[in-house]
Order: sequence, then structure tokens, then C-alpha cells
Amino acid sequence: MKVKVAILGCSGRMGRNLIQAAVEHQSIELVGGSVRANSSFVNVDLGELAGIGKIGQQTSTELESLLAADVLIDFTSIEATFEHLAWCKKHNKALVIGTTGFNEQQITDIQAYGESIPVVLAPNTSVGVNLLFKLLEVTAKAIGDYTDIEIFEAHHRFKKDAPSGTAMKMGQVIADTLGRDLTKVAVYGREGITGERDKDTIGFATVRAGDIVGEHTAFFADLGERLEITHKATSRMTFALGAMRAAFWLSNADSGFYDMQDVLGLND
Ligand code: NAD
Repeated sequence: MKVKVAILGCSGRMGRNLIQAAVEHQSIELVGGSVRANSSFVNVDLGELAGIGKIGQQTSTELESLLAADVLIDFTSIEATFEHLAWCKKHNKALVIGTTGFNEQQITDIQAYGESIPVVLAPNTSVGVNLLFKLLEVTAKAIGDYTDIEIFEAHHRFKKDAPSGTAMKMGQVIADTLGRDLTKVAVYGREGITGERDKDTIGFATVRAGDIVGEHTAFFADLGERLEITHKATSRMTFALGAMRAAFWLSNADSGFYDMQDVLGLND
């Protein structure tokens, strides 16, 4: 039987990709999508919104129109996510949260909802990126303390922050595994190198150019060999497909607070 899914925030950049991913997923049935009050996308066919042709379901500002869903997927804003959590708790629905930017207190608050309903909090829903974190942990454990551990990332010219959150998480995973201190960071950029370069430092290099969606490489290098582990995202569909995977997994889960590592079975 297909899992009935609704998309919260379906007119956004991610929302449109989520509609397409849901429609194309063999085990998922898309039963609705919400837009915010006063949106210019009220009562628009979901398929037309996503540019894939009519599917006979319309956007709505009313969460009550999504009662047929078993799992809701939220890529909206911090404020909206908390409204959605309260609604899901009231109606006993599972929720996948892709929205980012929660502070520690807010994460604790979201965690508390896990006592009543199944919740996945996934700031990066790409399957490849979550697998990359695991591969880095396994590699760092096996390879021991190689002298040079460097992380390279590239993104489009509009991205303002550097290094990316994903690059920093990669560094954190390696640092935690090797017992290094991630405050020892060197960043290579147009302004030269900032930070001290010594044996314990993890180096970060960034490129901002054109329309690169996102590339990350970890280099484990010593004299005589080097290992490079790379992830490349080429479209937002990677995040949408990962969210579908989370929704499908969550439909079989008990109440609880989960992350993508749980979804992918990497915490087992
Ligand atoms: P966006 O601004 O294009 O889309 C957000 C949409 O949410 C907008 O259309 C807005 O109208 C809608 N919205 C806000 N409040 C709403 C409400 N109460 N009900 C219904 N819709 C509402 O942004 P985006 O690029 O699609 O990103 C959305 C969020 O997802 C951001 O927090 C972003 O950082 C995050 N994101 C996460 C991942 C991931 O892998 N988890 C990937 C990309 C983006």
C-alpha cells in the first residue's frame, strides 16, 4: 500500500521539487500541499506548480485539507514548522522536517514532539551526504591520524557563507573520530590562508563559481598516497528524493525523534 504524503510549503524552491519527487515515487501517493495564507499560489494544481502537468490536486492554505495524509513533509520556515508540529501532534500525523536554522532550544522543543508522534529532523536530506558522513567516520577510524586532512567545497556564486555547513560537519565528524580539535581550522580563500597550519589543523578550501549546486571532497593525504572522498549534488532533486525516503521510512516508525542516519540505517 502506498504511503499518503502531503507537502507543507509546496510553492517554494524545495516544495516544487518535492511535488515532482512524490509524484514519481512508486510507494508514495501525494494527497495535498499547503501554501501560506495570502499566497498567490492558492488553489493551483500541484502538478502545474511543479511544472510537470496537471495532477488533479490543488494547493490550499487549510491544513485540514491534508487530513488524508499519513506523513507530512515540511520545507518552510522555523515559525511555520512549529505550527505544523502542533497540528501533527493534534491529529497524530508523522512529520519530516527539512527546514533548517533551528537553535538548540528549538531542537530540544522539536525533540519533545517525538514523545507523541514520529518526527524526522533532517537539515540535509541528501542520501549521499549522509552516507558521506558515515564514510568519513569509518575512513578516519581505519586510516589513523594521517598528517594532512583537508576539505574542499564548491558552490554557486550566490552562496554567501563559507565554508559550507556540510563541509564543517565533515570536519566535525573527522575531528570527533580522531580526537582532534575543530577549532584548529585553516581556511584557504581569495584573501589567502586564515588560521594556523600545523599537524592537528583541518584545512578548508572553498570555491564560489557559476551555478555549482554543491561539491564536497575530503582529502586524507600522507607521503606516498592520498584518499579522496567526494560528493557532488547536481540538483535540488537529491534533497527531495531523500525527503521521500524519510517519509516512507517514517510511515513505519513508532513515535520518536529521528534523523537521516536513522532513516538510512546508519545508526544500527
Ligand atoms: P523557499 O523560500 O523557496 O520556500 C519556502 C516556502 O515555504 C515558501 O514558498 C513559503 O511561502 C512557504 N511557507 C512559509 N510558511 C508557510 C506556511 N505556514 N504554510 C505553507 N507554506 C509556507 O525556500 P527553500 O529553498 O524551498 O527552502 C525551505 C527550507 O528548506 C529552508 O529552511 C532551507 O534551508 C531548507 N532546505 C533544506 C534542505 C535539506 O536537505 N533539508 C535542502 C534545501 C533547503
